[in-house]
Amino acid sequence: MVQQAASHVTKKGLYINGAWVQEENQEFHESLNPATEQVVGYYAAATSAQVDHAVESAKSAFKLWKNTTLPERAQFLWRAAQVFEEKKEHLAQTMTKEMGKVLAESLGEVGVVVETCKYMAGEGRRLFGETVSSGASNRQIMMVREPIGVVACITPWNFPVALAGYKILAALISGNTVVWKPASEVALSAQIFTEVFHEIGLPKGVLNLVTGAGSKVGAQLAEHKDVKVISFTGSTEVGIKLSETAAKTLKRVSLELGGKNAVIVLKDANLDLAAEAIVKAAFTTTGQRCTAASRVIVERDVKDELLQRVVAITKNLKVGNGLQSGVDIGPLINKHQLETVEKYVAIAVQEGAVIECGGKRLLSEQGYFYEPTVLSNVKKGDAVAQEEIFGPVLAFIEVDHFEEAVEVNNDTVYGLSTSLFTNSLHYANRGAKEIESGLVYINNGTSNAELGVAFGGTKHSGNGHREVSHHAFDVMTEWKSIYTTY
Ligand code: NAP
Repeated sequence: MVQQAASHVTKKGLYINGAWVQEENQEFHESLNPATEQVVGYYAAATSAQVDHAVESAKSAFKLWKNTTLPERAQFLWRAAQVFEEKKEHLAQTMTKEMGKVLAESLGEVGVVVETCKYMAGEGRRLFGETVSSGASNRQIMMVREPIGVVACITPWNFPVALAGYKILAALISGNTVVWKPASEVALSAQIFTEVFHEIGLPKGVLNLVTGAGSKVGAQLAEHKDVKVISFTGSTEVGIKLSETAAKTLKRVSLELGGKNAVIVLKDANLDLAAEAIVKAAFTTTGQRCTAASRVIVERDVKDELLQRVVAITKNLKVGNGLQSGVDIGPLINKHQLETVEKYVAIAVQEGAVIECGGKRLLSEQGYFYEPTVLSNVKKGDAVAQEEIFGPVLAFIEVDHFEEAVEVNNDTVYGLSTSLFTNSLHYANRGAKEIESGLVYINNGTSNAELGVAFGGTKHSGNGHREVSHHAFDVMTEWKSIYTTY
C-alpha cells in the first residue's frame, strides 16, 4: 500500500551523498511483519532522478575513495565492526520483525557482519599484486589490482545484512564506491546497516542506499552507464534478466542464485548425526536459505530408519513469532511465499508423495506460518525434487546405491550445496569429486558456510564468481599491467 510522507512515524528516506534525503512528495511503502501482519515502518520508493543522484554521488566519491590508502579504508571497517556490535540488539530485532527469522538467528547474522568487517579490513592488506620477469634486462613488470568504480549491490531479504556485508565490505575495502538496493521486505534493516557507516563518518557518496521496487530501482542500476559492476544475490530468474541488461553496457556481473540442495545419506552413515543435520539444514530460517536442504537422497536400506528419526525431530520444532523465546521456526516472508509452499505440497501429493509430517499452514495464528513438512515417496523428476520452493519442505528420494545418489543429486539445473553422509573414505572422496555443486560437505549439513571460504554455486546457482573470501576481489578489482623500462 502506498503512503504519503506526512505522518508521525519517522521516515528516513534514502541515503545519498552522505545524508538521509526525501522529496516533498516522496512515495513511501509499508514494511510488514510476517508474523503479525502489522506495519513495522516505511521505506521510500526512490524516483528515477534519485537513483541517478545516488550513482552520480558514488561516481564523484570514487575519485577520492580510490586514492584513500588501504589502511585508512580498513580503519573505517574496524570502526563499523564496533558500531555494529553496539547496535546488535536493535538491528537483530528489526530483522526479525521485518522478515521473521528467530531472534537468535538474527543476532547471529549481525555477528557475521561484525566478523566480516574485521575479515575484510584484514584481507584488504593482502590485495597483493604480482611481478613478472621481463624478457628485457632493463625492464621491470608489475601487475596491480585496481578498483573499478561504482558497484551496485542488489540483495535479497533472507539474509538482510550478512549478504549485503559480503558485497559492500569487499567493494569498499578494494576502493570502489557503492549504491545498494536491498530487498524491499527488509528496507528498514538496510537503513540501520547504512546508519552505521554514517555514524563512523564514511566520506559522503562512498555508500548510498536506494530503496524501492527491484523491477524499477534495480533495473535502472543495471542499465546505468556509470555503474561498472553489479553484485547480485537473489533468484535465478532475476539474475538472468540483470545479466542481459548489464551486457549492453559491458558491466561485470556477479550472481549468487538459487539452489535445490540435497543431503545424500549412504547406508554406512551415522544416522543420528545425519538426521540432526538434515532437520537443521531443511528448516532453519523456515527453509528460506539458498543453501537449505530440500532433498534427502537416501539408500533404500536405511530409508525407514532415517525417515523415522527426521520426522521425530521435526515434530518437536516449535513454530511461532521469532521474537518469542523457545520458537525454532518463524513465518514465511509473505503471503505469496506461503501460497507457493501450499501449491508445491499439493502438487507433490498429486504426483504420489506421502506427507510424513506437517503439510499445512497454521490457521490459528496470524501471519504466514507453515508447518515444517517432510514428504516421502518423491521421485527425482517431481516438481518438489526439481524446483526451488524456498520454504520448509523436505523431500525424501530413495536410491539403490551411491552412483544413483550422485546422479539424482546432479540432475537439477542448480548446483549450490550438497552434503554427503558416509563413513567410507572411498565414497567421501568420490562424492567430493563427482558432486556438481560449488559447496560440498561431508558429514555436515548443507548450510555451514564459513568466513574466508569461497562461497558460490555452479550451473544455474551462479555465474562462476565467488564471495565471502578473498576471491570476491576478483569481482571488485581489475588488473593493470605496468611495464617500466630503465
Ligand atoms: P529476488 O526476487 O530475485 O530479489 C532479489 C533482489 O533483486 C531484491 O532486492 C529485489 O528487489 C531485486 N529485484 C527484483 N526484480 C528485479 C529486477 N527486475 N531488476 C533488478 N533487481 C530486481 O530474490 P528474493 O526473493 O529476494 O530472494 C530469494 C532468492 O534468492 C532465492 O532464489 C534464493 O535461493 C536466492 N538466494 C541466493 C543466495 C546465494 O548466495 N546463492 C543467497 C540468498 C538467497 P525487490 O525486493 O524490491 O523485489
